[in-house]
Amino acid sequence: MATEEQVLHALRSVIDPDLHRDIVTLGFIKDVRICDSAVAFTIELTTPACPVKDMLQEQAKAAGMAIDGVDQVNVKMDANVRAHAALGQVLLPGIKNIVPVASGKGGVGKSTVSANLAVALAQTGAKVGLMDADVYGPSIPTIMGVSEPPKPGQHGMLPSEAHGVKVVSMGFFLKPDQAVVWRGPMITKMIDQFLGGVEWGELDYLVIDLPPGTGDIQLSLCQKIPLTGSVVVSTPQDVALNVAEKAIIMFNQLKTPVLGLVENMSYFECPHCHEREYIFDTGGAVKASERLGLPYLGGIPLATNIRKMSDNGNPIVIAEPESSSAKAFMEIAKNLAAQISIRHMNQEEDQPVKISF
Ligand code: ADP
Repeated sequence: MATEEQVLHALRSVIDPDLHRDIVTLGFIKDVRICDSAVAFTIELTTPACPVKDMLQEQAKAAGMAIDGVDQVNVKMDANVRAHAALGQVLLPGIKNIVPVASGKGGVGKSTVSANLAVALAQTGAKVGLMDADVYGPSIPTIMGVSEPPKPGQHGMLPSEAHGVKVVSMGFFLKPDQAVVWRGPMITKMIDQFLGGVEWGELDYLVIDLPPGTGDIQLSLCQKIPLTGSVVVSTPQDVALNVAEKAIIMFNQLKTPVLGLVENMSYFECPHCHEREYIFDTGGAVKASERLGLPYLGGIPLATNIRKMSDNGNPIVIAEPESSSAKAFMEIAKNLAAQISIRHMNQEEDQPVKISF
């Protein structure tokens, strides 16, 4: 009969390609059981959205099968999302990671990306919240198909829920014809309310849809709470990328890491012949991320159904999960989750931020 030591030794050959360490050293292996020629263990990943989940499972199974005397290997996959060091301690003990989605300018699809990424992460099994901080044009209620305002809970607002994601938006509190005309301090108060005054409960990821540009809300958020890191959305044109770069410079100045760049409206795929047309040029975001030393999380096609489903309150990842658009969002969600896990590996470098409410 194989020993636990032999099993762990064999599993050391399986390397997580994102974290560059073997799955035993990473502490992923739990609950090893050996019974005659059968071996069973659990791989506890740092995110259920791990992009290499299937590969690690297969490799671990093969490594187990290669042990002398073993003819059956059962690998259970599990995940425990790591919390951003500075977050758990004080302000929002149930929230493990806060990830704002930003863009240099409006109309590049930042809200569409925020909503689909939140739903995609929830589809992998993660606990996800979506906070619409785009107070000037809150479109999350429309995209998520939720109009019910949050209800009062015991200690604050209970977020609304849609497609497995907890949602809070200024849009719930505005009449359709009402515009937000707020000054900086009022915006800061709103952010406080949406963070500290909402019963978010346990969340692996809180995605925040920021307003476009580099204004008060971005400043307020970055100074108030330790963000795991931001996602910057751009379209492929030079002009859009130049303004996206300004958002990146802002995050750098505010010491908020940028987890990666997303290129929206990357190309148009003809629904009939499936040929790709690069309407706004191609490769811009890839080149920009290389130049800036940032991860490129992926590209999303320009597709009528992304817009249509958003308008109907049914994000494409839910409405048409098999479409190439939904798959593109899912891939980006997984790459983002991987970047968050990588970030936590280097967490010692994080500087805890002073928090006051
Ligand atoms: P932002 O938040 O950057 O202002 P939105 O997410 O509100 O942008 O998107 C602006 C418009 O573009 C919306 O009508 C949305 O449905 C549409 N849109 C966004 N991304 C795509 C896409 N990849 N394909 C087609 N339409 C899109």
